[in-house]
Amino acid sequence: MPPAPSAPDSSPREKSAPQRAMEKLGLARDIDLALHLPLRYEDETRVLPIADAPDGEPVQVEGVVTESRIEQRGRRQLVVRIADASDALLLRFLNFYPSHQKTLAVGARVRVRGEARSGFFGREMVHPHFKAVDAHTPLATALTPVYPTSAQLPQAYLRKAVAAALARVPLDEVLPPGTVPPGLPTLREALMRLHHPPAGESMAALEDRSHPAWQRLKFEELLAQQLSQLAAQRERQRLRAPQLRAVPGGLHEQLLAALPFQLTAAQRRVGEEIAADLGRAASAAAAGAAADSDGATPMNRLLQGDVGSGKTVVAALAAAVAIDAGWQCALMAPTELLAEQHFRKLVQWLEPLLAARGQSIAWLTGSRKGKARALMVDKVASGEAALVVGTQAVIQDSVHFARLGLAIIDEQHRFGVAQRLELRRKLAHEPGQPALEPHLLMMTATPIPRTLAMTYFADLDVSTIDELPPGRTPVLTKVFADERRGTVIARIADEVAKGRQVYWVCPLIEESEHIDLQNATETHAQLSAALPGMVVGLLHGRLPAAEKAAVMAQFAGGVMAVLVATTVIEVGVDVPNASLMVIEHAERFGLSQLHQLRGRVGRGAVASVCVLLYQGPLSPTGKDRLRAMAETTDGFEIARRDLEIRGPGEFMGARQSGDALLRFADLAEDAPLLQRARDAAPPLLARHPGAARAHVARWLYTRADFLKA
Ligand code: ADP
Ligand code: MG
Repeated sequence: MPPAPSAPDSSPREKSAPQRAMEKLGLARDIDLALHLPLRYEDETRVLPIADAPDGEPVQVEGVVTESRIEQRGRRQLVVRIADASDALLLRFLNFYPSHQKTLAVGARVRVRGEARSGFFGREMVHPHFKAVDAHTPLATALTPVYPTSAQLPQAYLRKAVAAALARVPLDEVLPPGTVPPGLPTLREALMRLHHPPAGESMAALEDRSHPAWQRLKFEELLAQQLSQLAAQRERQRLRAPQLRAVPGGLHEQLLAALPFQLTAAQRRVGEEIAADLGRAASAAAAGAAADSDGATPMNRLLQGDVGSGKTVVAALAAAVAIDAGWQCALMAPTELLAEQHFRKLVQWLEPLLAARGQSIAWLTGSRKGKARALMVDKVASGEAALVVGTQAVIQDSVHFARLGLAIIDEQHRFGVAQRLELRRKLAHEPGQPALEPHLLMMTATPIPRTLAMTYFADLDVSTIDELPPGRTPVLTKVFADERRGTVIARIADEVAKGRQVYWVCPLIEESEHIDLQNATETHAQLSAALPGMVVGLLHGRLPAAEKAAVMAQFAGGVMAVLVATTVIEVGVDVPNASLMVIEHAERFGLSQLHQLRGRVGRGAVASVCVLLYQGPLSPTGKDRLRAMAETTDGFEIARRDLEIRGPGEFMGARQSGDALLRFADLAEDAPLLQRARDAAPPLLARHPGAARAHVARWLYTRADFLKA
C-alpha cells in the first residue's frame, strides 16, 4: 500500500515523486483534488457467480484456489484455477512475482476482478486484479473511482489523496439559497456522489454527465465564469476613453466621398454602431466617478463579418473618426503579409487625405528594423503618424503613442489568449495617457457561436456585417482524392485560358517548416512543367519580405497566372480576378482556416470554384470538415460546425495557453444551464458580493486572468 499523502502544501520536506506528479497535474490544493473527478468507475460492490459472468465485461467474482502452477507455454506463466459453487475459472499471469504465488496458493479465498473470456482451456481471465479475502470480508459500498493520472502517479496513491482532500476541504455552500437551480444537490453531496457513487447508481447518467451531481458542478463552473466576466466588465466600466467624433468636412467625410463604391447597408449600420461607441459622452453618474476626464467607457467591440464582407473599410472609417477627433489609431494584424495588405489599401485611401493635413501613416512590423524603424517610432511618438499599421510589433514596449485613441485588431481569432492579454496590458499602461484608455475594435471572419458569445465574449459588444457587397457569386466547392490531381491541373489550364487566375495552397505544418517548403517547391515545379507558357509563382513564409511583396504584386497585377503558396495567403489577399483555388492536403487544415482560404476566391463577379484535394484515409473529423466545406459557404454555419467538431478551447486560441477553459460544462450541450448561470450572476454580484467573490476564488483562481482576455 502506498503511504498516505500528507497535505500537499503543509510540509517543507522534500516532495515525493507522486507528490510532484500530482502538482504537475495541477492538483496542489485540496479543492483541486476534490474537483479532480473520476474518468470511470469500477464496480466492486457486487460478486457474481462465475457461471453468470458475461464474456468481455468487467466483473468481480470470488472463489477458492484449487490449483496453482507455473507453465512454460511459449512463455513462463502463472496459471491459477479458482472455483465457486457455480463453476471454475482460470487466472493467467504472464508477469508475476513470488507474492502472486503466495496470495494465490491452493486453498486461499480470493476476490478477483477482470474480464472473463472463453478460451481453449475453458473460461479464463488474463491479469485480473485480485485480493485475499475471508468469507466475511465486506463488499465495497460505493463504486471505485478511476482517476485520470500520469505514469508517475499510481492510481491507489491518487485515490487516497483525493479521499483525504475531500475529507478536509471546506465545501460549505457559499451560494445563497435560490441561486442554484432547484433539484440539484449541495456541492458537498455532488462531489461525494461523483467520487464515491453508491452501489446501484446509474453508470449511464454518471458517464454522460446528465446526473444531477454533474449538473451541480457544471452550474457552479458556469456561474464562476459568468461572475468573473461580470467583474471584468465592471472594472472596464470604470475606465475612461476619449470622446471621438467626426468633424464636418473632415477625414471621415472625405474618405466616404473617395471610396470607389457605395457602402452596403450592413456596413453603414455597423459603422454607426462603432461611431456611437466612440462618440459617447460620459453619463452624469460616470462623470462623477472620473471627474478629471470628459470621456466615456472605452469601446470593447467585436466586428464580425464573413470573409469578403468588407470589414477593412469599416475599420478605415473608424480610424478616420479617431483621427478627425485629433487622436491616433493603431491597426494590427496577426501576420506581416496581412498587415501589408491593409497598409496598401489604407495608403491608397487615406494617405493623400492625411498628407493634405500634414499627417502620415506609420508601418511597424518585426522585420522593419534599424533606422527605418527608429524613424517610424519617432513619428508615432510625436503624433505625426495619425495611423499606425503593423503586426504585434505595434504594441512592443519601445513604441509609445502620443495620443492613442483607437486600437483595431484584425482577424482577432488568430491572436492567442496570451497575446490579447498583453495587448490589454499594453494599452492600459501607455505612458503619457494616465487618465484615458484607447477604444478597442476587434474584427473577425470567424463568427462567434452564441454560446461562446454568452460566456467568454460576454464582455464584448458585437456588431455583425451580415451581407456581402453586391455582385458576388457563391463559390462552388468540390472535394477530390489526390489521385484526381491530373484532372485538376487540366482545369487550371482552362481557367487561365479564360484570363482567370488560380491559387494553389499547400499546408503549413508548424513543426516542420522544411517539409512544407519542399512540398510547396515540388508542387510549384510540377505545375510549372504541366502548364508551359504560364507564369507560376511561389510564395512561402521563408521568402524575404521584399520578395514576398514582389510575388504578390505580380499576382495582383495579373502578370502571374498561378500562385503556389503555403498558408501565408490565408488572410487578407484580395485579387478579384482569381476564380479557382486548389487546396492540397485539405485534410490537414482546420475548418475555419479552410473557410478563410476559400474566401480568397469569389471576390469578383465571375463564378468561382474551390477544389479540396485530400490524401486518404480520412479521419472521422477530417471527413466532417470536408463535408461541411462542400455543404455550406455560410461562415456562421461553418463556425457552428467547427465548434461541434473541435470544441471551444481551440476556437478561442486557448491551445496556446495549454489550458482547457471549461472542465465540466460543455457549451454545446449545456446551453440551458449556461442561461441559468447568466441570469443568476448579476443579482448575486449585486446583493451578495462576498459570496460571489468566494465562489470565483474557489473555482477560477489562476484562470481568472485568462477569462478576462
Ligand atoms: P474582409 O471583411 O474579408 O476583410 P475586405 O475588407 O478585404 O473584406 O473587402 C473585400 C473586398 O470587397 C475588397 O476588395 C473591398 O474593397 C471590397 N468592398 C468592401 N466593401 C464594398 C462595397 N460596399 N461594395 C463593393 N466592394 C466592397
Ligand atoms: Mg479582412
